[in-house]
Amino acid sequence: MSRHDYDLFCIGGGSGGVRGSRISATYGAKVAIAEEKYFGGTCVNVGCIPKKLFSYAAHFRDEFHDAAGFGWSGPEPKFHWPTLLANKNKEIERLNGIYERMLDKAGVAILKARATIVDSNTVECGGKSYSAKHILVATGSWPTIPTFPGCEHAITSNEAFFLHALPEAVIVVGGGYIAVEFASIFNGLGVKTTLVYRGKRVLRGFDADLGTRLAEEMQKKGIEIKFESDIASIAKNADGTLAVTFFGGGQARAGVVMYATGRKPNTSNLGLEAAGVKLREDGAIEVNEYLATSVDSIHALGDVTNRINLTPVATAEGMALARTLFRGEPTRMDYDNIATAIFAIPNVATVGLSEELAQSRGHTVEIYKASFRALKHTLSGSDEKTFMKLVVDAPTQRVLGAHMMGAEAGEIIQGIAIALKCGATKAQFDSTIGIHPTAAEEFVTLREKFTD
Ligand code: NDP
Repeated sequence: MSRHDYDLFCIGGGSGGVRGSRISATYGAKVAIAEEKYFGGTCVNVGCIPKKLFSYAAHFRDEFHDAAGFGWSGPEPKFHWPTLLANKNKEIERLNGIYERMLDKAGVAILKARATIVDSNTVECGGKSYSAKHILVATGSWPTIPTFPGCEHAITSNEAFFLHALPEAVIVVGGGYIAVEFASIFNGLGVKTTLVYRGKRVLRGFDADLGTRLAEEMQKKGIEIKFESDIASIAKNADGTLAVTFFGGGQARAGVVMYATGRKPNTSNLGLEAAGVKLREDGAIEVNEYLATSVDSIHALGDVTNRINLTPVATAEGMALARTLFRGEPTRMDYDNIATAIFAIPNVATVGLSEELAQSRGHTVEIYKASFRALKHTLSGSDEKTFMKLVVDAPTQRVLGAHMMGAEAGEIIQGIAIALKCGATKAQFDSTIGIHPTAAEEFVTLREKFTD
């Protein structure tokens, strides 16, 4: 019999913690999980899932507009925010229940309280002390707002998911995933939207074409983008709206100012330092290739390690850790060719290397690109462009990166990701017969090498 209360004590009931706990329990480990807020973590409660539901809602504006060219007419549809909010909340509650039941069914002990680490094998939770052979820290991350005069008037995506009413105008700050997704959502739902970004091109770190082209499409849809701009201060007007002053002059008024300027790992007040767990400069927990921290018995995964902060990465890490600890199969994660989508309108998705990264890693690349109006828009009248790009390693002809902007880009790139994982060459893409008429077939018919 183990001399510990548990084989694994997991702190945090988000995607990675739940998966790690559940799979460990199915491998025969005695597991407890502590969660102080909601099961499912950011993804289920204030992230991927409600965001995608909001994004569906926002897409309808274009759909209603597009329908006219196909012969549909009728009174102009009206959007009712409280209905969307209530339906979204109901669905999230359902998912919270599913997560809890899954854990329960796997035999995981559920503790609904904050847990802190006392030492390498002891956790305190809800006033009780528990010993554990292994401790898993899966506490995720939290959105941050920089400090400036009036910053207390700004909200983050956390609050945007529960707004009592939609404002007439919104200012979204940032140029990453959350900023472009929420700007697209607000705009689609009929809110006058301004995106304020400190740089020259949104989606820094992605293939440059994606950022440039997404901004063009967002602007065409009515979003005002202020590049190389930043907010100096925010004050509250007598009518409750916000008066925003920009650096270098210029003012704007908005009902909501939302900051999407990054997220911070949740590592404060967890007892990590006292237990000897090494943190990086950004506050994230440092882990080795087997997700172990500087203390052998303490492990960490997901956003709290601030590496690739995506739900499917955290769940895969949870699986890998369960195998390593309780199945006798030391499992390393493979972080290459992880596909990702940005649910802006239009969607953007990508897998593998951007043109810039491929070049900086010393590849001589061939570039194939296509930009076109999707078949649907020949009748809808929309001038939305679909964009596709392949980055190919010239000597080996291996496809290093695939990038897309357009309807259902995430659905399409998911399939392409398998090809890249298998090391597909451009010739293999070319010998694949397309499905006609689709946008996706363009990926197997890109013939012309692009020269700048
Ligand atoms: P990101 O790191 O993606 O983007 C942050 C943005 O804010 C960048 O454009 C950055 O500018 C800007 N910024 C940072 N600090 C400041 C500042 N002080 N003042 C003004 N601008 C600033 O963070 P997000 O918050 O958008 O998302 C966090 C993470 O969550 C993502 O990286 C991703 O891993 C995950 N996520 C994934 C989603 C998906 O899979 N669809 C959806 C949402 C989030 P600069 O570029 O100049 O640094």
